[in-house]
Amino acid sequence: MGERSGRTRRWWRLLLLILAVAFFVALHQSWIRIPANVAPWGEAALDRPPGWLARIQINSLAADPAACIAALDRSQLRYRRTPGRAITQGCGLEAAVRPLRSHISYNGPFDLTCGMMAALYWYEAELQRLARAHLGTSIARIDQLGTYACRNVNNARTGRRSQHATANAIDIAGFRFADGRTAFLLQDWGKDTPEGRFLAEARDAACRFFNVVLSPDYNALHANHFHLDLGGFRMCR
Ligand SMILES: [Zn+2]
Repeated sequence: MGERSGRTRRWWRLLLLILAVAFFVALHQSWIRIPANVAPWGEAALDRPPGWLARIQINSLAADPAACIAALDRSQLRYRRTPGRAITQGCGLEAAVRPLRSHISYNGPFDLTCGMMAALYWYEAELQRLARAHLGTSIARIDQLGTYACRNVNNARTGRRSQHATANAIDIAGFRFADGRTAFLLQDWGKDTPEGRFLAEARDAACRFFNVVLSPDYNALHANHFHLDLGGFRMCR
């Protein structure tokens, strides 16, 4: 009896092993295809919907500038490389890009690290989806307050350098929609209006792409903008 169940177990184990090998061979030969951005391996497809791994994919792009530029090149984003400015005393630009044509326009040009650009490009598509859901329109323009600034956190005289010191952050003040409406943090944050609800969801959506997301909920310094960055911390407030 014991011997027979032992033999059955061995057969089951062998069958499972064969199935596992067949699965990986089928994957390797592309007989079965897993949708983009779902499996932990494979390249980030920035024109396809993000999956639950989006922030991990973005962080691995941020850590590998060549792979990051390749991911931008595979997307519909039009951009140019920003001339490098060696990082000295914690300030500078490395592997930075300037968007020329993206899902949404901005109030002015800016440079961002490649990882941040990948995150922003993915985030823009998500913002357009939220605008259609909450306001029945699309976003015509994002008002940003800046990306690169050689300064410390919170503009303090001493302390850590801000992620802005390497263009690894962007501050967003609000959104202008195609139908003329607007949603600005200073006016609309915390309100139970379509614009207010849009902003609340825009903050939550940002947490899927960026490591640090600071909104007016965080402190008074952020009353008029979202701060989004790809620094080493994790915060979503
Ligand atoms: Zn900021």
